[in-house]
Amino acid sequence: MRDLNTELTRLHQAGLYRQRRIMANAAGVYGHADGREVLAFCSNDYLGLANHPEVVKALQAGAERWGLGSGAAHLVNGHTTAHHALEAELAAFTNRPRALLFSTGYMTNLGVIAALCGRGDHVFEDRLNHASLLDGGLLSQARLQRYAHGDGAALDGKLAQRTTGEKLVVTDGVFSMDGDLAPLPQLAATAKRHDAWLMVDDAHGFGVLGANGGGTAEHFGLGMDALPILVGTLGKAFGSFGAFVAGSDALIEFLIQKARPYIYTTALPPAVAEATRVSLKLLQTDTWRREKLQSLIQRFRRGAEELGLTLMQSQTPIQPLLIGDNDKAVALSQALLKQGILVSAIRPPTVPEGGARLRITLSAAHREVDVDQLLTVLEMVA
Ligand SMILES: *Cc1c(COP(=O)(O)O)cnc(C)c1O
Repeated sequence: MRDLNTELTRLHQAGLYRQRRIMANAAGVYGHADGREVLAFCSNDYLGLANHPEVVKALQAGAERWGLGSGAAHLVNGHTTAHHALEAELAAFTNRPRALLFSTGYMTNLGVIAALCGRGDHVFEDRLNHASLLDGGLLSQARLQRYAHGDGAALDGKLAQRTTGEKLVVTDGVFSMDGDLAPLPQLAATAKRHDAWLMVDDAHGFGVLGANGGGTAEHFGLGMDALPILVGTLGKAFGSFGAFVAGSDALIEFLIQKARPYIYTTALPPAVAEATRVSLKLLQTDTWRREKLQSLIQRFRRGAEELGLTLMQSQTPIQPLLIGDNDKAVALSQALLKQGILVSAIRPPTVPEGGARLRITLSAAHREVDVDQLLTVLEMVA
């Protein structure tokens, strides 16, 4: 049997030990972490919808109407009119014929990739893809190849070497730890040239990019022909929980038959579906949230540049400060916390070796003075 204590000690020594912070506040940027008041810059609730009064009201009304649990999987009797209405609204929102709800984004990615590909097929993934996409590739038992980050030419070369089997190109829309965008028009053209599927996980694009919050697909103007498999998660800008995939009628029907993480799990609570319908509406109509977020992003980038901090190429609310060393990243995060600023240090294997960073995220729920406070404290500790 492996000696778990020795392995834990080794993680400690490498600066890779992970610990949970115990939060004592509702979703929001002003909170309580480990018993102290904090201003948080690490949530993915980019539009500040997780604690919106109308969303909370819809959740309460949903619980009155539906109770707590869905009681079963979608294919048994867990699929309610609430889930069905949300799917129709997500299809309309993404401009696709159909959408299918999953219980989490992680499961969506496992389910879609492993349903479409198997032994003898080929999955091509950006080197910086989210762990769930890589795990989906591994689970599928297809041959998994990773191409250089955002490099359409490298992808083209790898696709050209494969002449048999299904080919699936998989990428984050907005990269979760870097904040940059995948070059989707180029990837779509490359995939098409090689008769490959393109799957985009836009967990961090929906709500943030595009005039209506339609994410990278709307930002680049890519319809279903260019981008046939579009995944979104509901736990980020939607401020809710769950995930979906949008695409053709055939794709959705096929996934209902074949995606095991869809079939063999309990449907998410119908009250959560009801609340998400309201957050979807707010996400589309409250354009001021996107505008405010953009202005906070620009304010932060201007201020950080004035301080001489090195930012990454990101125009999204994900604004990481690359540190490199694991212990240094953790020490900085702790120094920020002492000043009441909550930012998490992200270390390998979430990011590449030597790529430890402070993952700063902004939200429409922040005020300008909050961003200024972050900059003041960064100047003190960095
Ligand atoms: C958060 C995230 C997921 C996982 O979604 P959950 O609903 O939290 O399981 C998948 N992909 C990306 C890119 C993510 O950032």
